[in-house]
Amino acid sequence: MNGNLFPPSLIDRFGRRIDYLRMSVTDRCDLRCVYCMSEKMTFVPRSQLLTLEELERIGSCFVELGVKKIRITGGEPLTRRNVLQLIRALGSLEGLRELVLTTNGTLLPRYAGELKAAGVRRINISLDTLKPDRFRRITRIGELHRTLAGIDAALEAGFERLKINAVVLKNRNHDEVVALTRFASERGMDISFIEEMPLGIVEEHDRYEAYYSSDQILRDLRKHFQLLPTTLSTGGPARYYRMADSDIRVGFISPHSHNFCDHCNRVRLTAEGRLLLCLGQEHSVDLRRILRAHPSEEGPLQQAILDAMKIKPRGHDFDLTQKSVLLRHMNTTGG
Ligand code: SAM
Ligand code: SF4
Repeated sequence: MNGNLFPPSLIDRFGRRIDYLRMSVTDRCDLRCVYCMSEKMTFVPRSQLLTLEELERIGSCFVELGVKKIRITGGEPLTRRNVLQLIRALGSLEGLRELVLTTNGTLLPRYAGELKAAGVRRINISLDTLKPDRFRRITRIGELHRTLAGIDAALEAGFERLKINAVVLKNRNHDEVVALTRFASERGMDISFIEEMPLGIVEEHDRYEAYYSSDQILRDLRKHFQLLPTTLSTGGPARYYRMADSDIRVGFISPHSHNFCDHCNRVRLTAEGRLLLCLGQEHSVDLRRILRAHPSEEGPLQQAILDAMKIKPRGHDFDLTQKSVLLRHMNTTGG
């Protein structure tokens, strides 16, 4: 605690309370998904990445400012060397209610048990297809059986909740939404379908042509499952339904068709220490510079985060019909 009776909290110009931090711990990855990265990526030099200690300092400062949930992401977070050291440190922060992780699953056979022991409560695992050849085409270099083994390992470790994340692209995997939902529900896992966001230039497909709306997915699923709307909100662009015969949730992350920016509760930290105030805009603050200028004082870092609230934009303006896109890829942004 900083000793104040009423510690400051993070409220932006539009009255939104920020209590959720997504922390990218690396921009590197062992896959090259076509919607996330270009085939030949230039990664940030390691010397420019925040150290694990710096990531921990930033996480701890956010928790002092009222952040209740931290999601570890990337790139592929489990490829960051010694990432468990950071996860253990964050997991022991008093005041943090939820420590969660998004991963492609390939390294879960090695790490699932230790992640659980470190305090991670829920994991989202990305899986867009159940067909090995398609998996290879979508991820460019991946092997489906490795992600499936990761899912098995996570199930065995016994997390509170596990969720599949699937990005749906027309004519690539839209015909698998029912099979993926069945795969998840048979294993007691939730599933969320994500509309592709125009982050970074991708060569493989035209994003406008590949657009497959959440409403269309919902119509496809309703031919096979009874889905009930819920009021659950995680403050993001997601709507959740529940299966009528279980508590399995089916979510739709729809930045294009349903904009929920009015309720946004989150900010993102890139692996180089840039605090991004909105997924779809470039407003940001360089926290690495402040950390390194004040290695033994928390005040300037705390003030910089508080000041950043003044530049959080009202919302994104993604437009798939425009050729211009944000140059930053999703692996940099920390999806
Ligand atoms: N590597 C991990 C993984 O794949 O789960 C974590 C990072 S990844 C950037 C986080 C999530 O963002 C994944 O579920 C991925 O499918 C999603 N994603 C990546 N690029 C995207 C894009 N252009 N639009 C929408 N979602 C995207
Ligand atoms: Fe890697 Fe995740 Fe991006 Fe796929 S979506 S390339 S797994 S960071």
